Amino acid sequence: MINETPRVRFAPSPTGYLHVGGLRTALYNFLFARRNNGRFILRIEDTDRKRFVEGAVENLVASLKWCGLEFDEGPDAAGDVGPYMQSRRLDIYDYHAKQLIESGHAYYCFCTPERLNALREEQQKQKLPQAKYDKHCLHLSKDEIEKSLASGIDKVIRLNVEPNQKIIFEDIIRGRVEFDSNNIDDQVLIKSDGYPTYHLANVVDDHLMKITHVIRGEEWLSSTPKHILLYDFFNWEKPEFAHLPLLLNPDRSKLSKRQGDVAVEDYRAKGYLKEALVNFVALLGWNAGDDKEFYYMNELIEKFSLERVNKSGAVFDLEKLNWLNAEHLRKKTDNEILQLLKEEINHSALDISQYPDEYLLKVITAMKERVSFIHEFLSKSPYLFEAPKEYEQAAIAKGWKPETPEELKKLCSAFSNLENPSKEDFEQAFEKAVGELNISKGKLIHPLRLAVSGMSTGPGMFDILFILGKEEVIKRINNAVETIRA
Ligand code: GLU
Repeated sequence: MINETPRVRFAPSPTGYLHVGGLRTALYNFLFARRNNGRFILRIEDTDRKRFVEGAVENLVASLKWCGLEFDEGPDAAGDVGPYMQSRRLDIYDYHAKQLIESGHAYYCFCTPERLNALREEQQKQKLPQAKYDKHCLHLSKDEIEKSLASGIDKVIRLNVEPNQKIIFEDIIRGRVEFDSNNIDDQVLIKSDGYPTYHLANVVDDHLMKITHVIRGEEWLSSTPKHILLYDFFNWEKPEFAHLPLLLNPDRSKLSKRQGDVAVEDYRAKGYLKEALVNFVALLGWNAGDDKEFYYMNELIEKFSLERVNKSGAVFDLEKLNWLNAEHLRKKTDNEILQLLKEEINHSALDISQYPDEYLLKVITAMKERVSFIHEFLSKSPYLFEAPKEYEQAAIAKGWKPETPEELKKLCSAFSNLENPSKEDFEQAFEKAVGELNISKGKLIHPLRLAVSGMSTGPGMFDILFILGKEEVIKRINNAVETIRA
């Protein structure tokens, strides 16, 4: 356990959707906060105006909440270090950038895009490992600066990185990390549109929001030395850092949109359970040190620690997600499944009023072990919701004989004598009928299944008959007898 009350944040730039990698970062921050009685903060890093997407924040918040990641402070939650949207904190960044100018750790730069392009091209020609600003404007006189400022020409504020310095920090996951300041550019802190860059806004906010642990993806590791410099220049205490491993495709390339779905909402739309997605994402880079893979959120909170997060990339294995989905579905009570199934029916073309709870519960009992997704109740057993409109051709060819219609009619009359039949009643009546017809059970059971379901596979035949009820079964058999031609 950590002594002070930890404060952690998830700080997404709203791109329009929540990436599964973002969900992993958010989840680890959330688990860490809950495990250590800390606070989980949502901060929206929306200072890149070019990437503004309407409705993106709402979408992101909805995805987080769907996954059960409730934040303690954020745009629509209480908290006294807000606002939690960076676009509403511009004066704060401006004030801090000017402080750095005063202390000599930052400077105005008035270079035109043309000059910067020419510089970059020149450096590329010289085959320098990396293009860097040449500190031209650092050497402007006070007068020149005043004049340029007064003229209103475009300007930015840059970080003044001193060469030949070692920048060292301890990462909770990666251990000691060392950077050479010669490889760090004089980063723009305030852009010409007056907005801060990620680096300045991120550090200022982490400090003012009293963040104790910065837990984020490995892609931000190379930004960290710039942040360390900023903390030092401001004379601020640094938070702890933990950089989470990259997410990889099975071929070990970086997880990208091209290979499949990356948005949480895509998984939701495909019918994945939030419990399964959270469980799966938790295992992308973390394990509790044993073989256990099935977790509920409360168990994750109990077990989670940053020390058990791996350094090496985590492979996104869809098979495992599918397996976890089936496992989580099976562990649900029939009543929980009922609610989800009703939602599914409501989103389909079916009329929910046709299916009382009692009916759906019978469907659930019969199909639960055969499905991995809620929508498979509809797709794998459509005949439990609507009479078949078609019959499997291969099954007709195999099992439907010229005498089948007569035999089925005989079965119908046996069924019609039954009063509110149970599964067993149907079974007995069936056995009696095949006995009287003097044929094997197998000869009639396949045509019967085909007649009532249109398919050749499914749950137990008599379960299906019991669920559908006598009237519907007889109706379907008659219909099949009239439609199917051997
Ligand atoms: N805005 C950054 C992002 O989009 C935040 C990175 C960080 O956590 O520092 O992920």
